[in-house]
Amino acid sequence: FGQGDLAFAQDLARRAGVSIDNAGLYRDAREAIRARDEFLSIASHELKTPLTTLQLQVQAAARRLSAGGPLDLPRIASRLSTAERQVERLTSLINNLLDISRITAGRLELDLETVDLTGVVQDVLGRFAEELSRAGCSLEIQSEGPSVGQWDRLRVEQIVINLVSNAVKYGAGQPIRVSVGGDGDTALLSVSDQGIGIAPEHQARIFERFERAVSDRHYGGLGLGLWIVRQILDALGGRIRVESAPGRGSNFTVELPRAARQSQGQEPGRVRGRSQA
Ligand code: ADP
Repeated sequence: FGQGDLAFAQDLARRAGVSIDNAGLYRDAREAIRARDEFLSIASHELKTPLTTLQLQVQAAARRLSAGGPLDLPRIASRLSTAERQVERLTSLINNLLDISRITAGRLELDLETVDLTGVVQDVLGRFAEELSRAGCSLEIQSEGPSVGQWDRLRVEQIVINLVSNAVKYGAGQPIRVSVGGDGDTALLSVSDQGIGIAPEHQARIFERFERAVSDRHYGGLGLGLWIVRQILDALGGRIRVESAPGRGSNFTVELPRAARQSQGQEPGRVRGRSQA
């Protein structure tokens, strides 16, 4: 073969390389579109469900009030309390959606202050009383008194809320245990349930965005809660791990350094507040 053949073969190889790259990019783009469409359809469904219940409750209460006659106040109060629960559900879904854009744009800002993790846990669990009784779950808290660190209170609350609401949702009505402990440098929070559990092959991916290990038909959700927990912990220099067995329950353990520090190589969560001084 001569120089002309070599140039021809090189050109052919370049074109083949470009075609293969294009095919790969096209496949990735299609996969991203499929994932986006699936997410949009799940998200719309998740938003629609509480909205429909909310609408029905408000309509029924309005009909009763405008019909005149004697008012059944306990019944109206119960409708309003159902409506309020749906508003809370919608707020939490929308906050999760807003968090996706904040986190991916690296705008997860931390407002550091002295926070007592035990106090946050007690406060959050108090808010879960009604949900726990509806799910028929009992709850036990274990702690050795205050457990203090420099953290962002709302984000720490969000970690506890996400883990406890999962324990209620996937806990099959069995007892839930929340414990707070740790040593001088690191606080530990663990949330365990005796519910459906997670198969070993799914345990790593459930911390990724939109990843779920249950069917949409049985359990609602966007697959964002644990991802958000992990992102908050990355920003605070903490970690989360899970131990679980299908049908036996799950135990999520959070390690939180008492002096929040940003971990290496992570998407930066910007830190405001005292730690910057
Ligand atoms: P969502 O609950 O909206 O699906 P999460 O990110 O909170 O989103 O959880 C991701 C997945 O991890 C869930 O879909 C479920 O498969 C699994 N999971 C989370 N917590 C538990 C738990 N306590 N028990 C069993 N499975 C769980």
